[in-house]
Amino acid sequence: MLTRFRPLYRYTDVMNKCDLIVNAAWILPVAPVNTVLTHHSLAISGNVITAIGPKTEIQATYHPQQTINLDNHIVMPGLINAHGHAAMSLLRGAGEDQPLEVWLNDTVWPMEAALMSPDFVRLGTELSVAEMLASGTTTFSDMYFYPEVVANVCAEQGIRAQLAFPLIEFSNPWSTDVNDALHKGLELFHALRHSNLVKVALGPHSAYSLNAKDMERIGMYAHELDIMVQIHLHESAQEVENAIATTGESWIKRLHNIGLLGPNLQAVHMTQVTPAEMTMIADSGTRVVHCPTSNLKLASGYCPVGELHKKGVCVALGTDGAASNNCLDMFSEARLSALLAKHEEQNAAAGKAADAVRMATLDGARALGMDTITGSLEPGKAADFISLDTEHLGLLPLHDPFAAVVHANAAKAVDNVFVNGEQLIKNRQFTRLSPPELAHRVKSWHSALA
Ligand SMILES: [Zn+2]
Repeated sequence: MLTRFRPLYRYTDVMNKCDLIVNAAWILPVAPVNTVLTHHSLAISGNVITAIGPKTEIQATYHPQQTINLDNHIVMPGLINAHGHAAMSLLRGAGEDQPLEVWLNDTVWPMEAALMSPDFVRLGTELSVAEMLASGTTTFSDMYFYPEVVANVCAEQGIRAQLAFPLIEFSNPWSTDVNDALHKGLELFHALRHSNLVKVALGPHSAYSLNAKDMERIGMYAHELDIMVQIHLHESAQEVENAIATTGESWIKRLHNIGLLGPNLQAVHMTQVTPAEMTMIADSGTRVVHCPTSNLKLASGYCPVGELHKKGVCVALGTDGAASNNCLDMFSEARLSALLAKHEEQNAAAGKAADAVRMATLDGARALGMDTITGSLEPGKAADFISLDTEHLGLLPLHDPFAAVVHANAAKAVDNVFVNGEQLIKNRQFTRLSPPELAHRVKSWHSALA
């Protein structure tokens, strides 16, 4: 059931003036939920949405410097990829058909040890940012080495991001130990605390890769600095079995006991969760990030999103790195999450398309603590939005815009992308980066590797 609503919201201090009006055949604002607006417009001043309303009213109220007519388009918030490792796009296709533990120990960590450098991170991140923007993602979360390099790429390409700097016991090219990683990461946190685009978070890789004392320190910093924490948690059954064998309790229980569960914690994966653990997650306000493709590809199972939703848990979506996915298309994650929800509940009415759209946008923003800035098209929020060309044959005919967005391979229809009021893709063309030049550099890197 689609809801129609037609209010005109205004910021009175900018009435009659705006930089841009976007007229669209359909707008999915995401807030209010499950809403389709037809023949509506956005008014934008600077980097902020100032109004959303019927086209005729917006045009009668505002005198823009520029107007974009999207008469055959769906306009919606940019997608939010709440978990990934951007530079790992350079490992795309390496170590296929391996379970998680083998894939990490025998493929990923040895390759990273051999290849890791600031240049590797820069190139891989540039490749991922290009892929994400082209498929409609305007905000992503990253957990990777050299986050200062990733921050520079974000500034250069204009994309919004959360950078969860990696905390792991073993020495790596970026940090000698947890102390060193905390020192470097918190320095970056302070340097970027007023950034419009980038937020820095703590990124403990997993509970099994950190000792209990360091995990408690991370919890202390999270509370003292009010900083977000992202962690891989209960990704596989093996991880949970090992935890119980070595500590006598699951990692969720351990994090609960040391006070790390809470609204600042983003628990990624959660494929193995008991009812009691779900209650701990719900009661604490912990956010969950569901990465369905990566989990299924590594045969780790999948997150019980239906049960978590029933308990009121905020569940966002992520691709994870391209090494375990192998693409960064958030529309396909939204689709898979909807299909898995139907399978989980054995009910075709579960996993509604509008819910998948909310998970891929506003719930992503909530999980990352950015929901006052982005995730929905509302006055006062940043102008982070995309358009889908419904003339794309795979979307025709358009009976239901939400179904088209989730189930009809919509990434191929993305033709305009705005982040923070700036148009980064215009009629399918990047405005800042050159895909042929980037492809050339990636292929040169790969040739040199061979
Ligand atoms: Zn991951």
